[in-house]
Amino acid sequence: MIQVTQAPQSPVQIKQQFVIAGTASPDYAGQNLTLTVDNQYQANGPIVDVDGSWSVTFLFQQAGNRRLKIAIDNDSTEVVIQVAATPVPPANRLRFVTVPQPIKVGQAVVVTGAADGYANGARLLLRADQQYELARPEVQVGKWQAVVGFNQAGSRLLEIIGNGQDRAQVTVSITGTTPPRPPKVSFTNVPQNVRVEQMVTFQGSAENYSDGAELVLRADQRSELARPKVQAGKWQATALFHQSGKRLIEIIGSEQDRAQITLDVQGAPTPDLQIFPRSTWTNQATPADLPDLQPKRITLHHTDLAALPVSATQAQEVARMQTIWNSHVNGNGWSDIGYHYVIMSSGRIYVGRSERKRGAHDVVNDGLGVAFDGTFTTATISSQQFQSAVALCTQLCQRYGFTDPVTPVPTPTADFGTRNLPLICGHRDRVATACPGTEGGTTVRLPEIRQAVKAKL
Ligand SMILES: [Zn+2]
Repeated sequence: MIQVTQAPQSPVQIKQQFVIAGTASPDYAGQNLTLTVDNQYQANGPIVDVDGSWSVTFLFQQAGNRRLKIAIDNDSTEVVIQVAATPVPPANRLRFVTVPQPIKVGQAVVVTGAADGYANGARLLLRADQQYELARPEVQVGKWQAVVGFNQAGSRLLEIIGNGQDRAQVTVSITGTTPPRPPKVSFTNVPQNVRVEQMVTFQGSAENYSDGAELVLRADQRSELARPKVQAGKWQATALFHQSGKRLIEIIGSEQDRAQITLDVQGAPTPDLQIFPRSTWTNQATPADLPDLQPKRITLHHTDLAALPVSATQAQEVARMQTIWNSHVNGNGWSDIGYHYVIMSSGRIYVGRSERKRGAHDVVNDGLGVAFDGTFTTATISSQQFQSAVALCTQLCQRYGFTDPVTPVPTPTADFGTRNLPLICGHRDRVATACPGTEGGTTVRLPEIRQAVKAKL
């Protein structure tokens, strides 16, 4: 029994060779099969192999559904081969004719070409670097043309693509400088219900700025609030305001690129709180390259210096701040004063390190460092210091969302592993030190401060 196992599955072209293979009974091994085309033309076919297999290479001179009969003795089979009437369109019918060289960045130029054998109105595709579509030119009288332009210098592979595999390529060189896309900063939020002494988050976009580019966020065209860095075309910064009223907030990328919003800051600051800005004792800013801080708690300290009298002048207190700074920076080798706030015997509070930056005060440094000026191993803080500590800690708890400064929570320490500590704790609770005085913080009235703060929250 003769069987065909291989024959063309799709139309073949005139004069295109193809293979037909199959099997026959091994009894016919060594004998010729007979091939008959369209029941008319007969030819000697292939010889049957010892295992009964056979194969033959064949071609047709004319188109149509051609019948091919394979036979030996009385055994035969038939296949129909479709022979296509028109030849496959030959490739290389598309050509580039005029391609300006070089092309300037931003310049529009006309590229023309030939499309032999294409009908009028046939659409071609012109693309660059095998992916960017530039135009879909229409064939007119065997020609095509398109206007193209490029935004970047370099070399481009242009391709004109027609039917099937019909395409042509040319490489063009683009010269000149790429016009810079203009950078643009903006705000994406306008914070609402902003209150004094409450942290506000500003967000925005910074188009065409590179990652790490530094912007300036400022208020009322003079006070710098933050220097956010661009990440993936966005920026974010936090700031707080000490006074109520309308504020003009600006994000600044450069002289030419800035955006503004107006903010309505509500409410008055806590009346019994006197906080003196850093500028009262130094004209140096906290170094901008220090790690940012998202405070998780408040750690209380003492400065371990002989306390100034309650009646000290502000000049004496300013000198005290400078002494602390000097011992931290030139003595300890730190980048800045370690504490975020210092509370003098008078009750006046001085801003130390910027609250936005990690301090250097309890080794873990995941919170705000607040120091009482003085040594409280036996002495007790002044009542003014107590009042100020309560007011300051209340404000800080409100600002950072610490709702319960009393209940102990698991807290990482430098020397004692994880301990259960309240959100307002003493330096010695986390590090082996005598600061800020007695165990349990009685000399700095720590338990009373926590309770008083909790009552105000
Ligand atoms: Zn300390």
